[in-house]
Amino acid sequence: MAEKICILGSTGSIGTQALESCSHLGIEVTAICAGSRIDILEQQIRKHTPKVCAVADERKALELKARVADTSTKIISGAVCSQEICDMTDCDTVLNAITGIAGLLPTVSAIKAKKNIAIANKETLVAAGDIVNELIKENGVIMLPVDSEHCAVHQCIDGRNKDEISKLIITASGGSMFGKTRKELEGVKLADALTHPNWSMGKKITIDSSTLVNKGLELIEAIRLFGIPEDRIDVLVHRESIVHSMASFVDGSVMAQMAVPDMRLCIQYALTYPEKKQGLTAPLNLAKLGKLSFYDVDNEAFPSVELARRAVRMGGVMPAVFNGANEACVDLFLNEKIRFTDIFDYLEYALNTFRPRAEKLTIDSVLEADSEARGLIYELASQKDK
Ligand code: NAD
Ligand code: MG
Repeated sequence: MAEKICILGSTGSIGTQALESCSHLGIEVTAICAGSRIDILEQQIRKHTPKVCAVADERKALELKARVADTSTKIISGAVCSQEICDMTDCDTVLNAITGIAGLLPTVSAIKAKKNIAIANKETLVAAGDIVNELIKENGVIMLPVDSEHCAVHQCIDGRNKDEISKLIITASGGSMFGKTRKELEGVKLADALTHPNWSMGKKITIDSSTLVNKGLELIEAIRLFGIPEDRIDVLVHRESIVHSMASFVDGSVMAQMAVPDMRLCIQYALTYPEKKQGLTAPLNLAKLGKLSFYDVDNEAFPSVELARRAVRMGGVMPAVFNGANEACVDLFLNEKIRFTDIFDYLEYALNTFRPRAEKLTIDSVLEADSEARGLIYELASQKDK
């Protein structure tokens, strides 16, 4: 069980819930890190008294430094502060809840500093999962998933041999656009895509949920975390978000993990594993729910999961290309520069067009592929704009 923790992305949806869970569990918060929201960071410093706080935005960091001059928290800033903080603090666990590929280098630093990792930042595993897995082995640390589906799978398969597992079944809420046809999706407005039926999350993952790219990313995340190949991982739409994922076994039995949708359960699981502790999550009342429903994914209207499968089969840096292209697409969609359905077409374009240069999979080749994939997408969008 974690005793001292560093929380990266502390001002976000996962980060704030992680702080709540730490207070509940009596885990000491030795360090926090975020992009720029210093009002929230000031409150967190006063409440949790971390030794260090890293702020990516240097101007905001100066302002925060002045505001908390009466406390003993040291403020650091700059482009690599999220990596430095993992080295500086005396924690045993780093919870990475940064959004996007920005979470990759901090994860690498934390592993090299021999910290256990609670990983919410799925993009790290999608883009560079094989490298991260090697580093985990080399440094003898543990990585536990925070993502609800992977937390569920972990609970279903814990203690089992891989050859006993026939399939993993990742559930998907279906997002805010469930049931819409491709034609209907063309007119989707930003505000509609930003409303999630069951979870309250950061903007990027909310858009990813509406396009089902999130499920594509989670499929790759599951391959990296559990070592199960792509053709043995199914995706199943489950509107109620009560069954968080399942595993089927060679004897025909299926294990499912159920709970009301509450990320604090998953955060707590990653922090207290292998123990289970009294949590903050409300009990599940199945009689009140009455029924649970399941559907196949509409791969025609939402090609994202199939595109993710293709990226995995292409191998090498292609999952990083899929992820980087998607981050650029979400940025363009959030700024209302492209349409909802353009995201699917642009992702396909990135997979069709990208030509990997480096032979070897390294952190540098992953970051290079990520940046080139973004470049492809921004260029395509600007051509279409003309
Ligand atoms: P969010 O947008 O609410 O928060 C992101 C946090 O990261 C903020 O604190 C932000 O300041 C920080 N950040 C962003 N860029 C940074 C940088 N360059 N340096 C330092 N800090 C930076 O996002 P979220 O919804 O909490 O999601 C975080 C991660 O967890 C994502 O990878 C997401 O896919 C994953 N996740 C989230 C949920 C959820 O319920 N929100 C569920 C499963 C997985
Ligand atoms: Mg998830």
